[in-house]
Amino acid sequence: MDEVKLINCMRCGMCLPHCPTYRETFLETASPRGRVALIRKVTEGELDQSERLLEYLALCLDCQACASACPCGVNAGELVAEFSCEGKAGQGGLNFMEDLILRKLVPHPDRLETSMAPLRLYQRTGLQKLVRHLGILKMFPKPLARMEGLLPALPARPLRQEISEVTEAIGPERGSIGFFLGCVMSLIFSDASRATIQLLSALGYKVITPKNQVCCGAPNMLGGDLAGLQEAARTNVEIFAGYEVDFIVTDCGGCGAELKKYGHHGAGEAAAEFSARVRDISEVLALHADELALLLQPLALKVTYHDPCHIAHCQGIRREPRQLLKLIPELSYQELEAADACCGSAGTYNIARPEMSDRILQRKLDTIASSGAAVLVTSNPGCLLQLKKGLAEQLPNVRILHLTELLLQSLRAPVALKPS
Ligand code: SF4
Ligand code: SF4
Repeated sequence: MDEVKLINCMRCGMCLPHCPTYRETFLETASPRGRVALIRKVTEGELDQSERLLEYLALCLDCQACASACPCGVNAGELVAEFSCEGKAGQGGLNFMEDLILRKLVPHPDRLETSMAPLRLYQRTGLQKLVRHLGILKMFPKPLARMEGLLPALPARPLRQEISEVTEAIGPERGSIGFFLGCVMSLIFSDASRATIQLLSALGYKVITPKNQVCCGAPNMLGGDLAGLQEAARTNVEIFAGYEVDFIVTDCGGCGAELKKYGHHGAGEAAAEFSARVRDISEVLALHADELALLLQPLALKVTYHDPCHIAHCQGIRREPRQLLKLIPELSYQELEAADACCGSAGTYNIARPEMSDRILQRKLDTIASSGAAVLVTSNPGCLLQLKKGLAEQLPNVRILHLTELLLQSLRAPVALKPS
């Protein structure tokens, strides 16, 4: 643990109103300042790592809203994650389940895709509808029932299996993009990633999607598996080094934030070069805003935007998505109150800490309702899952789309927006 990062906290409290868990509890120990102080005390040997202390730290969503607010550059979310990784290493590493998921499943796209087949069958056979109708899930352990409730309709096939490795540019070629397929985007939100590729192609980019790329490693980081994250970084850096591309683009906020940090994970100069070429899709599309504006057709919709933490706080991208939405003729853009406040998804947080996650989600749903928007746009799979479920339960008339899905709808207009 880098002690300099800990002593940088001058205890001003400017981060407090931005921290979702502090807003819900008003507990100092559930605030960024409190978490930094707890880690510092343990690091300096003044405090033992009690269960209670670990619980306060585990309540952190790693949303990094505190980092955006801190005048001293302290990132409490990142410090908590680092502290957990070090703790895990000190306890002798991963347990059986963690090893199974983080080492034997997540880094292998084929296995991940196979593991989703039973769920696809569960939906296709109508079993899901029956199970939900009969309320059978109430008899299952709560985390399982919650996971099931978050599951949207799965595509017939993961995008990785469906698309060709090269998508040619439409018209004169301006350059090449290496497309990073996030696991959840490919497995669940394949329509959005297909839209991403089509938009890039329409703007004159040849899009190369290496089929052997692996998960970005964010689940390893979340699970305290630094070695697994480093292995993911090495593999992806090596794979993309085999292609001459101008940018490596992702439409997943979580992947983008992780890929941009590869250079810090000790994977050498090649990793730093890789990270320097990584862009969120909104960054690349915004480079060509003038041309895109000429291609977009009117969509008379009231739209609002939720900033995913991994895009706004971790990557500092706020202007581009809004700029792109405002390019769509006749679209009425309504800024969301506290648009960059976490939605409570945070990886597996919504399963592990359902009560806190629901409280945080409720605040977000209330702001969406006040906005009066008919469409909510965001660009991170975790947010899409969490908000899709919340909207279905409380605001069924509000549709949720990935940024690229809405832009593609406009590119293809005058076709009416598909009902969700
Ligand atoms: S983390 Fe930053 S904003 Fe929060 S109390 Fe410390 S110095 Fe102030
Ligand atoms: S990362 Fe989010 S939840 Fe964690 S301390 Fe910072 S603001 Fe609070």
